[in-house]
Amino acid sequence: MIHCRNVTKVYFSDSDKIVALNRLNLSVDTGDCVALVGRSGSGKSTLLHILSGMDRPTDGEVEMNGRNLSTLSERELIQYRLQEVGVVFQSFHLISHRTAFENVELPLMLCGIPRTQRRVAVRDALARVGLSNRMHHLPGQLSGGEQQRVAIARATMNQPKILFADEPTGNLDSKTAEVILHLIREIATEHGTTVLLITHDQRLAQTYANRNLALIDGTIESSQYSAVSAHHGKLRDA
Ligand code: ADP
Ligand code: MG
Repeated sequence: MIHCRNVTKVYFSDSDKIVALNRLNLSVDTGDCVALVGRSGSGKSTLLHILSGMDRPTDGEVEMNGRNLSTLSERELIQYRLQEVGVVFQSFHLISHRTAFENVELPLMLCGIPRTQRRVAVRDALARVGLSNRMHHLPGQLSGGEQQRVAIARATMNQPKILFADEPTGNLDSKTAEVILHLIREIATEHGTTVLLITHDQRLAQTYANRNLALIDGTIESSQYSAVSAHHGKLRDA
C-alpha cells in the first residue's frame, strides 16, 4: 500500500535549514494498522502531509497503492486526497459554522454525489459513529469526543483506501481516547482500510496497532509487530 524510498523533507526558513525527514524508508501492507510513534518534532506530521498528498518531499519517492505520487499533477493530487485518503487530526478541523451533517456531507458534495444519495449516506455514517441524535448540532455544541466522531465519519465518507490519524486522541481524556481508537479500528476493519496512526503514546500504539514504527529525527529507527493481530483478526481488548 505504502512504499517510501529515501524520502527527505527539508524546510528552508530565513537562514535555517531543517531536515524534517532524512532518507526515510517505509513499507506498509494493505489492511495493516500501523502506529507511528515519535517525540514532538521527529517528523511525524511532515510524513503524514507527504503521504496524504498535502505536501511534496524534497527528495525520494513515495508510492501509494501502486502509483508514484511525484508523477501526479496538482489536479490528480486533489482527486487522490479526496477519494483515496482520509485524514483525522488532533484538533478535529471541523468547519465551525457547519453542522455535523454538513461537515460529513462535504466530501460527497465535492465528488458530485446527488443530494438524495448524500442524505442517506450521511445519516448512515453519523449513525455508524453513534451521532444520530447530534446531526444538526454545530461543532461548538459537541464534546471533543463527539467532534472527533464527526471527523471520523467525514474522513471515511468516500471509503478511502488509507486513513491517516495524526494524534487523533491528543485532545481527549483517556477513556474517550480508547473509544475513539476502537471506532477507528472497527470502521477500518469493516472496509479493509489501511490505517496509519500517529501518536506519542506507546501504550495506545501497542494496544491498537498491529505494527509499531519508531520515528527518530526523521528516520524510522525500529519496526515491531505487536501482540495485536492484524486488521482482519481479532482486536485485543483495551
Ligand atoms: P512532529 O509532528 O513529529 O511533532 P513535524 O513533522 O511537525 O514533527 O516537524 C518536524 C520538524 O520540522 C520540526 O523541527 C519542525 O519544527 C519542522 N517543521 C515542520 N513544519 C515546518 C514548516 N512548515 N516550516 C519549517 N519547519 C517546519
Ligand atoms: Mg505533529
